[in-house]
Amino acid sequence: MANIAFIGLGNMGGPMAANLVKAGHKVTAFDLVAASRDQAKADGAAIAESSVASVKGADVVVTMLPAGKHVLSVWNEVIPVMAKGTLIIDCSTIDVESAKQAHALAAKHGALSVDAPVSGGTGGAKGATLTFMCGGEDKAFAAAKPALENMGKKIVHCGGAGAGQAAKICNNMILGISMIGVGEAFALAEKLGLSHQALFDVASTSSGQCWALTSYCPVPGPVPASPANNGYKPGFASNLMVKDLTLAQDAANAAGAVTPLGKHAQEIYKAFDAAGHGGVDFSGIIQHVRSLAGK
Ligand code: NAD
Repeated sequence: MANIAFIGLGNMGGPMAANLVKAGHKVTAFDLVAASRDQAKADGAAIAESSVASVKGADVVVTMLPAGKHVLSVWNEVIPVMAKGTLIIDCSTIDVESAKQAHALAAKHGALSVDAPVSGGTGGAKGATLTFMCGGEDKAFAAAKPALENMGKKIVHCGGAGAGQAAKICNNMILGISMIGVGEAFALAEKLGLSHQALFDVASTSSGQCWALTSYCPVPGPVPASPANNGYKPGFASNLMVKDLTLAQDAANAAGAVTPLGKHAQEIYKAFDAAGHGGVDFSGIIQHVRSLAGK
């Protein structure tokens, strides 16, 4: 079992750290927020006084933070005090450029590094069923895999530095676009007098089939576990979809890729967020689509 430092104990990091404790690791945790530290303590982690203090004696360091600037700031603090050869894994969703900078910092100090953003949300974090999309050298990925397996059920090595973040934003761009498409189809069906169930029964077994329809249906009824049956309580909040679609647009602009539907999806989710619905599950975008009728 390893000595693991865990920095960033929010909605995702808290339960992920708890799963490492459950797997038998010695976890030393830190977060800026006292309530998150208290919860981690109740879950069985030792609490450090700072990020720097948490990495003393660690074999593995995990960060789960809001954005690239937080990751670079914490990695700049902790990497110089980590023992040479220590593995550092970032599970946050951040921009590809910052992820590459973080890897370069680790390499400069002789640390192994992996970018390992996740899919699966808070339910996956609690249930240890996350998918990890990993970027980094083979040796670093091999070292990270056992700890990631304690927090998730699918661990994919996508390529070198930043490849995990690239896979994450490409996947979420598909998701953001396809959820709007499914919402538009239901909004049109409503105007045409076609029932939700009839559209679902046809499209879920026809060429319109996709995850946004069959696993996360944005209208109540056909998929009982989808947030539509629960007042669009997240799940995956619309403001996080704005974040991921913005990361995708930033990456597209930097790389010279043209993604017109990704750009349009970003604008649509931004408008929903600006209207005060940032905390609504992203499948609630169907409400925005309906509201466009008659404007
Ligand atoms: P969160 O805001 O709940 O947690 C982030 C935590 O980081 C907070 O507790 C904050 O206090 C802490 N933090 C910030 N700066 C710090 C610092 N310098 N030192 C120590 N702690 C610090 O966010 P979350 O929902 O847990 O998401 C974390 C990451 O995972 C984000 O990048 C997010 O995009 C990604 N993600 C979230 C979800 C989801 O459903 N919530 C799903 C997939 C990916």
